[in-house]
Amino acid sequence: MKDATLVTILGRDPEQQHGIVNPPTWRASTVLSPDVESFLNRRYGEPGSYGRYGTPTTAALQDAIARLEGGYRAIAVGSGKTAIAAVLLALLRAGDHLLVVDCVYGPTRRLAEGFLRKFGIETTFFPPAAGSGIAAYLRPETRVVFLEAPGSLTFEMQDVPAICEVAHAAGAVVVMDNTWASPLYCKPFALGVDVSIQAATKYIGGHSDLMMGVITTTRALFERIRHGVFEVATAAGPDECTLALRGLRTLAVRLERHMQSGLLLADWLRRRPEVRRVMHPALPDDPGHGLWRRDFTGASGLFGFVLEPCSKAQLSAFLDHLELFGMGASWGGYESLLIPTDPRPLRSAVPWTEPGQPMRIHVGLEDPEDLIRDLEAGFRRFRHAA
Ligand SMILES: *Cc1c(COP(=O)(O)O)cnc(C)c1O
Repeated sequence: MKDATLVTILGRDPEQQHGIVNPPTWRASTVLSPDVESFLNRRYGEPGSYGRYGTPTTAALQDAIARLEGGYRAIAVGSGKTAIAAVLLALLRAGDHLLVVDCVYGPTRRLAEGFLRKFGIETTFFPPAAGSGIAAYLRPETRVVFLEAPGSLTFEMQDVPAICEVAHAAGAVVVMDNTWASPLYCKPFALGVDVSIQAATKYIGGHSDLMMGVITTTRALFERIRHGVFEVATAAGPDECTLALRGLRTLAVRLERHMQSGLLLADWLRRRPEVRRVMHPALPDDPGHGLWRRDFTGASGLFGFVLEPCSKAQLSAFLDHLELFGMGASWGGYESLLIPTDPRPLRSAVPWTEPGQPMRIHVGLEDPEDLIRDLEAGFRRFRHAA
């Protein structure tokens, strides 16, 4: 079955619940055992054994995401950042070395540079284009390689299979933040990844009203990851899981529209005199296009572009009066967003030296002609403020 069908049927079983289409929202702390035998044998970490490990609602969502990602099993936690922190704490110990791609999500970089260092874990950032050249960055104590393709802010691709091959040969595990593509447009386990992380806050939620992270792993790593994750985190709440399941049902149609409108706007921006460059791996002249075409089956509505060097007044004139583009953190909802970014403090392996103002755009589900009209008016104000 295709993903567009799977998202409508996974994680639900109407025959088991009075014919009702959706699974119920089971809320729980205490779960009673019928006898001493089962009380003594209740299974640590299984949904339905104690509220902290989730309920059957959590299990429904986890089963659906694991299947879509192509992994063994999944664990849903309170946010994408929680998922990243819990996985790294589960896999690493004092004295270990962590390799992280230089274009990684800012909070992941801060976690590695600051918090993990405190526990005696050392991090090196490597160039996104390294590919199998990652071998030069591996140490005998390297245990984890962390990828995010395309990366936050600059949308640089990585050669995921080549990196997995080199990392595995050296005994390291590969973790990938797969939020941009969602479980529909990239299948990380088919590329060799061991752990995939989704900020379900983004496209799976899809309506800017949910915080959630989902960790999917191989069979070999599942028990180890689950044990570590539940030492520091709690399963996502049942109401959140219901919202995530609801978002999942429309993910395929929403993503298709995000992709189409995103490509339309990327192409339009590419031709604007105010724009130096668009960063979108689905554009044929993007440096990551070959890898994207080989490993991904679609693109989301999130990408970057660099404005020609401009004044603060010009930037304000452009952004402050947009009608349809909001300014705010996060993305993946139905609404469009546009924010200025600054990759400079978030780079160490390959410094960001390009002139001009980098931007990040999330193309929502509005009619793309309305979005273009809004940006056109913004560029008019931008020129007049010069
Ligand atoms: C938003 C985001 C996260 C963090 O997710 P939260 O749910 O906001 O904690 C992690 N990775 C990427 C790529 C993201 O965009």
